[in-house]
Order: sequence, then C-alpha cells, then structure tokens
Amino acid sequence: MQKEHTKCLIIGSGPAGYTAGIYASRADLNPVLYEGPTPGGQLTITTEVENYPGYVNGASGTQITDDMRQQALRFGTDMRQGSIDKVDFSQRPFICVDDKDNTIEAETVIIATGATARWLGLECEAEYRGFGVSACATCDGFFFRGKDVVVIGGGDTALGDAAYLAKLCRKVYLVHRRNEFRASKAMQHVVFNKENIEIVWDSTLKNIVGTSTKFAKTISAVEVSNVKTGEVRTLPTSGVFIAIGHNPNSQVFKGQIDTDENGYIRTIAGTQQTNIAGVFAAGDVQDPLYRQAIVAAGSGCKAALEAEHFLMENDK
Ligand code: NDP
Repeated sequence: MQKEHTKCLIIGSGPAGYTAGIYASRADLNPVLYEGPTPGGQLTITTEVENYPGYVNGASGTQITDDMRQQALRFGTDMRQGSIDKVDFSQRPFICVDDKDNTIEAETVIIATGATARWLGLECEAEYRGFGVSACATCDGFFFRGKDVVVIGGGDTALGDAAYLAKLCRKVYLVHRRNEFRASKAMQHVVFNKENIEIVWDSTLKNIVGTSTKFAKTISAVEVSNVKTGEVRTLPTSGVFIAIGHNPNSQVFKGQIDTDENGYIRTIAGTQQTNIAGVFAAGDVQDPLYRQAIVAAGSGCKAALEAEHFLMENDK
C-alpha cells in the first residue's frame, strides 16, 4: 500500500482518457492514468472504425486506441493497469484509492470512465458481436449499405438509429417489446414516415441465424417472438443493432459528484468542469448524446486544458 501525490489523475482510458493524457503530459502535469477494466474503452469492441479522422482507410478500434496510448506514453503519461475503486472529493487534494489499496492524492482529477452499452444477454448476441451485431449504428451502419438490418429498442437511440440506417439500408425492421415507443414524439414522427422502416411491435429477439466458422461469421436472419401471441417470425437481415440504452460508468463517484437521473456526470455547459472545482469529466461518462470517439477525444483535450488552467489559477 503506497501513498503518492499527483497534479493530475486521469481515470479511464478510452479516447477521452488517452487524449487527456497526451495534453496533460505536454503541459508538464505528469499525469497518472488508470486504464480501468477495459483498456482502450468501448472502441476496442468495434472491429472496424471508418469515421475517425486521420485514418484514411479506416482501422480497427484496438489499433486506434493503441495509437493514442502510445502517443500518451511518448509524452510521459504514467500509465497504470487497474482501477480507481474509491474517491473522496470533499477536499483538495482529492483522495483516490486504487484496486490494490494504494492511495493517490490528486490536485485535479479527470474522469473518463466511459459508458457501457446494454446488451440483451443472449448467447447468439455474444457470438455475433462485432460480426453483424453492433451497439453503434453511427459506427457500423455503413457496412450494411443496401442491405436489410434489424434495430432492437424503443427509445430515442433506437429510433434515431433506425432513421439513420433507413438512409443507408434497403430495409430496417424496428423491433420493440411493447406496442408504444418511449422515444420523443418528434423521433416517432420521423420513423413512422420512413417507407423502408417496418415496426415489429410487441416482439423480442429470440435467435440470430447465420453461419459461424473459425474464419468468418455472417448473419442471415433473426427470429423474433411476439410477446402476446407467442408467434415466431423470421426476419431476413445482415445486421442487428442493439439500441436498448447505455449505462455510464459513474458508480464509483456516486454521492461525490452531480449526475443526471441516468447517472451521467453533469458538466457545466461548454466546459468539462463538474460541480467540484478541480474535478473534470470527459467522454461518454458525461455524454448521453453523441457517444463518438472523436467527440470523446475532443472533450479529453478540453478537460486537460481546463485542469492545467485550474492549477495555474489555484496553486500559484
Ligand atoms: P432508453 O432507456 O430511453 O430506451 C431504451 C429502450 O430499450 C426502451 O424502449 C426499452 O423498452 C428498450 N429495452 C430496454 N431493455 C430491453 C430489453 N432487455 N429488451 C428489449 N428492449 C429493451 O435509452 P436510449 O438510449 O434510447 O435513451 C437514453 C436517454 O438519452 C433518453 O433520455 C433519451 O431521450 C436520450 N437520447 C436523446 C437523443 C436526442 O435527443 N437526440 C438521442 C438518443 C438518446 P421499454 O420502452 O419497454 O422500456
């Protein structure tokens, strides 16, 4: 059990955390970065990323996050495996305890712990994840141009995904477990007016049909079951988009920092500042809306610049 002191502690290692590491290192803050349970974050579960600027021909999610990691290391970020399990933000320096019971006293903290997509928990879903099953239409929709796809969910994300995919795909089946949507009326209006979206009410995903070998996996259909009649229907499809919500990874900070009703950390508009002076949040843990790697990276940059500015103002 060690006790140490840092000017800047970064918690989390997706595009937001690594970018914060690059900027904080270059500002001589000697940041310590805890990579958390999923080094690289959500991007590492995406096979191919084609919309991250600078990668002309696309790259795998792991390639992009590893490049960011290497860049942060090059400037001297003190990269640590493991998680921060406990924090006390009641006074500065902030007291943070890692999973090996080491204590870090931090003058500033950047929270970049991301969010986790909710999954249905079916075996077939896990089998085809990254091979036709996705939780991000903006990331993966492009691969299904001209094909038929299925979207699962009835909130704003699902309807937004369905509307987005309807522009790229031949047909979109929107499968929802009830007979009304919780999404905003505006989104419902958009979806009801798209000719190539078919809404499959009162239905849940039962099975994904496809071929799965050691070398390739391809989806050909899904089976959905009507929760009222029990009738099973087969929908021909190449892709399945699970859009049943995300959980921000903010549990460790519960009671220490302001969040919205869904657990997303609140930041002051236009900044990455939280309600605690000296604690900043970046990336998906504070972003229920965009959830894009490039947006997360941008917010990580802002958080580090704000941490640097905060230290200049407060520790003269
Ligand atoms: P929501 O929690 O709003 O919706 C989740 C949807 O998934 C619900 O329709 C729910 O069904 C369904 N669902 C949940 N679990 C299961 C399951 N196990 N099996 C089948 N279906 C399931 O999440 P969203 O991501 O859609 O939205 C989160 C928040 O972000 C909301 O406040 C939303 O308004 C906001 N948002 C805003 C956007 C915008 O303004 N442009 C864009 C996207 C999101 P049921 O309805 O039956 O509970």
